[in-house]
Amino acid sequence: MYCKNCATQITEGSQFCQKCGAAASGNTMQAVTADASNFGMIAFILSIVGLIVGGIILGIIAIILGAIGLSKPNEKSRGLATAAIVIGIIDFVAAIIIIAVVGSMLPF
Ligand SMILES: [Zn+2]
Repeated sequence: MYCKNCATQITEGSQFCQKCGAAASGNTMQAVTADASNFGMIAFILSIVGLIVGGIILGIIAIILGAIGLSKPNEKSRGLATAAIVIGIIDFVAAIIIIAVVGSMLPF
């Protein structure tokens, strides 16, 4: 089962979470399962939108949400979270290049 406080996997039969010390209970598993996170999906959508609009902020948000998704043991969309981090980095690099190119073309 998983800790309902920090989502760390708890050894069956343990009374407390080994990581954060929260009390473990029999229905923790159900609570976590019902509350499965889906950061990967959200991150993936943001990364794609960022790719289209050249959004440096969206790229960063996608990387962060993707990383959060991968850190969660109950994350549903690990593949999408990984893809979101990769696309988010591409968003970020592409935006930097665009800014650099546009900046170099300005007659200052
Ligand atoms: Zn815990």
